[in-house]
Amino acid sequence: MVHRLFQPFFLLQLLCISFLFGCKPPNQEIITESKKVGTTIEQELPLEVTELDYDTTQWKEITERSGVVLDIRYATDNNFTKNQIYPCPRCFLRPMMADKILTLQQDINRKYGMRLKLFDCYRPRPAQQKLWNIVPDARYVTPPTNGSMHNRGLAVDITLVDKDGKELDMGTEFDFFGPEAYTTNTNLPVDVLKNRKVLTKLMEIHGMKGIRTEWWHFSLRTENAQLDDWEWECE
Ligand SMILES: [Zn+2]
Repeated sequence: MVHRLFQPFFLLQLLCISFLFGCKPPNQEIITESKKVGTTIEQELPLEVTELDYDTTQWKEITERSGVVLDIRYATDNNFTKNQIYPCPRCFLRPMMADKILTLQQDINRKYGMRLKLFDCYRPRPAQQKLWNIVPDARYVTPPTNGSMHNRGLAVDITLVDKDGKELDMGTEFDFFGPEAYTTNTNLPVDVLKNRKVLTKLMEIHGMKGIRTEWWHFSLRTENAQLDDWEWECE
């Protein structure tokens, strides 16, 4: 009688000991371990892994993840030609120019909470041709045969945005063609002159130079800057 009662109790005891010491069938242990390893790897990976769709020895893309504001006007019809010139808005520059822009963005954001806003970066020569076909006037568009610094990936059309996301008053809109946009024009409100001076100074500190007729245009003047026809991919 005692012997029969003892047997199930002993089995129950064994089960309890097995539970307390975490004894599990071997295959379950392996599954749990592999899950742990999988989770660790997943957590260490960057949130987004995308393959770059351009030649990184030639180009570097500036995206809004860097903090800059992109308002690539020639990808829309909101520009002086009233035509869309690019199929999609992306900002590419030669790597050495891109690095200067990215460093400047970091500097002004850290020191003043400000951001850069880009209207135009590298402009492929076919896009320059399209501009020229719409506005064949050398006062406003550089003839594609000569090519502009934009066609070399060494120019940007740029302005400053304050910590509240508001564009600084530069006296005229981007791509306003007339004396009001000239950097030599001193007949402008004090604030406008100050804002232009700040933008020019910041760009010059980083080695980029402006031109007389457009307050927004800056380029990096280097020797052997090649014109380019490469056109970026769109999704
Ligand atoms: Zn420009």
